Amino acid sequence: MTDSSSDLPELWTHEPHIHLEFKPGDSVAAIDTNATPGFRGSKSDAPALQEERNARYAELQEMLYASSRAGDHRRILLVLQGMDTAGKGGIVKHVVGSANPQGIQYASFGKPTEEELAHDFLWRIEKKLPAAGHIGVFDRSHYEDVLIVRVHDLVPPDVWGGRYELINDFEKRLVDDGTTIVKVAMFVSLDEQKKRLSERLDRPDKYWKYNPADIDERLLWPKYQEAYQAMLERTSTDYAPWHVIPCDRKWYSRLAILELLIEALKGLDLAWPPADFDVEAEKVRLAQA
Ligand code: AMP
Ligand code: MG
Repeated sequence: MTDSSSDLPELWTHEPHIHLEFKPGDSVAAIDTNATPGFRGSKSDAPALQEERNARYAELQEMLYASSRAGDHRRILLVLQGMDTAGKGGIVKHVVGSANPQGIQYASFGKPTEEELAHDFLWRIEKKLPAAGHIGVFDRSHYEDVLIVRVHDLVPPDVWGGRYELINDFEKRLVDDGTTIVKVAMFVSLDEQKKRLSERLDRPDKYWKYNPADIDERLLWPKYQEAYQAMLERTSTDYAPWHVIPCDRKWYSRLAILELLIEALKGLDLAWPPADFDVEAEKVRLAQA
């Protein structure tokens, strides 16, 4: 073991999962999307802290990768769920992407293809699971199959209704097989979403992120709230709990998710793998070579 739990920055009152884990009785309708749970600092503290914590995360990520080269088969899966503009892309770019790309596996899940629809809903997910030593990030995930699918009645209720248990069984299998799953549900207010969508319409460099259908989904927010509530209640397990992230302040959501990743990595008690050769003998050989 190379690390203790003591490297949590003082700006956090407790490890963020304590504030952010979904608890029975929590209500999606009551989430304060503008809040900064557990964080004592302010926006002006964020850039320096983020840089420092990105470096810590990158170090641990490299240790995970190095351990896999020595036979450790553990891996991390970060699941990002959230409505359009919640900031999933920013998490991928500024948080997950601050580590060595060698050890990162990114997958996004949009509308399924014909081929994907011909298979079980977990088929396309299985194919994108992270390999040993990697951090996998799912930009949307199997949870779309109980979110957009439920909201739009894309399959009958008994089919989507059966998926909660199927997902729990699936994730249990992954955890038993050495995957630490970090699930984050990202929430923005409707006002903040409107601002961000309007920015996408005002800036040519953001048009690519805009989809006219985003407005249709936005209008369905009450139905999405119900679907998110059911998802959190039915798939938050002790082995793969959900975290609820207030996302109106991007700087906060990034710091919070970064800290959740660091916690997950620290939970693995990683260490640099010992040399599988005689270091001293190699030094002698090199000196003579
Ligand atoms: P984006 O992530 O903005 O590129 O949008 C991808 C779109 O694909 C979102 O509207 C998702 O809800 C939708 N999507 C993802 N998975 C599924 C699924 N299993 N069935 C139907 N639509 C999906
Ligand atoms: Mg989108």
